Amino acid sequence: MEINNVIIPCQKSNADISRWDIRFQDGKVSQIRPSERPASEPPKLLLPPLCHPHIHLDKAYLLTCNNPISESHPNYSDLIPETGSFEEALLNTSRAKERYTESDLHLRGSQLLATSYNQGVTSLRAFVEIDHVTGTRPLDVALQLKSEFSHLLEIQICVFAQDPLFSTAHAETNRPLLTSTLRNYGPKIQVLGTTPYVEKSREAALLNIDWAITTALHHNLHLDFHLDYNLDELHPPTQPLTFSVIQLLQKHNWLGQADKSKTIVLGHCTQLTLLPNSELRQLAEIVIQSGLPIHFVGLPTSDLFMMGRPNTATACAQVRPRATLNVPSMIKDLGLSACIGVNNVGNAFTPFGSGDPLQMASYGVGIYQAGTVSDATTLYGCVSLLARKAIGLHRDEEDGDVAEGTSLRGMLLIKNEENIKIPGPAWESELLIPARQREGFKDVIWDPPGVELRSIIN
Ligand SMILES: [Zn+2]
Repeated sequence: MEINNVIIPCQKSNADISRWDIRFQDGKVSQIRPSERPASEPPKLLLPPLCHPHIHLDKAYLLTCNNPISESHPNYSDLIPETGSFEEALLNTSRAKERYTESDLHLRGSQLLATSYNQGVTSLRAFVEIDHVTGTRPLDVALQLKSEFSHLLEIQICVFAQDPLFSTAHAETNRPLLTSTLRNYGPKIQVLGTTPYVEKSREAALLNIDWAITTALHHNLHLDFHLDYNLDELHPPTQPLTFSVIQLLQKHNWLGQADKSKTIVLGHCTQLTLLPNSELRQLAEIVIQSGLPIHFVGLPTSDLFMMGRPNTATACAQVRPRATLNVPSMIKDLGLSACIGVNNVGNAFTPFGSGDPLQMASYGVGIYQAGTVSDATTLYGCVSLLARKAIGLHRDEEDGDVAEGTSLRGMLLIKNEENIKIPGPAWESELLIPARQREGFKDVIWDPPGVELRSIIN
């Protein structure tokens, strides 16, 4: 097989050569040489594949599935948001969970995974909820989907507690259920995720974090927190819980106890945007000096929808301070590891969007005011290699050049169209307008190609 006239933006050596002709067999490059194709031919782009570092598999499309009505496919149409508030999203999603059936979870999950693959995704961390309402049903379906999609997608299963583990009447059911699930499913589960912010007090949130750390260490799992998901004013000396996570990881000697391949991911963390510069720098120094494998994941589409509501008591009700972690700045200015994720698709936490990581990275240009060519490269990394690093899937060879012997399997190929076709006068003929060509990360981030132009090399 061969790919001709291809631009490889990640290629570090021979940077003066802009286009390549590649031959490969069984995915492995047998020959790579400067392209001999005419410069007028539309080039292709060879890029690292996309990754969802944080996506909820079981609650995708609850608002947009329009399920065929049958006993095995529950109807969720009465759970359409009326206020769009956070509390309503939590409540309506809890009510939806009572109706889950296996075939419904399987259909919506398949739709999400198939759509993701066509968008250029080859790996993901799939969150599935385990609690007194759902039992292990979402997990069982996720494991089935993982097997069915294993030829296309590397799926990490995150068993996730969306509900409290140390407060409310259900905590004493939820926690033992998680423990027994982790014991019974063993290595089928790769990640433990919890949501300290749903606990009813700071004390309970700290118990949640402490329990999750010791449990992840005990079962040799990656750790993933939904954390500091608020824009509440800071009242020193009380600090965001991110500081407590680091202290508790150190108290439990994560570095000494955990397998070196395991990472810790902190999602949302919107409250950190309220920290003064000096404290944010102090946090970055604490993280870096700790040597802990901590990665922040910004979830901008969910965060902007959920955080920042109008204050009707003020004279300026349309002023809505919103916030999401400024991921490019955390990488560039603070030296932290960070990436961005889609989080939710088609449910009350994020009703809008197609779940396309590339489209989300493109929104990042506006959200983070990240408009330089170098920012575009960073934003692409945030939905590909940096995301894979965060969830512990990255391999060293992924940073290398394409050379003879390199595997192309799983890389993302972007085609360019030669022309834009439109009907001619009187609708009889076809008019051809020369198309703009995408030649690098900036073109892909600023104006993402349609899904029909993307393919994964197999
Ligand atoms: Zn989430």
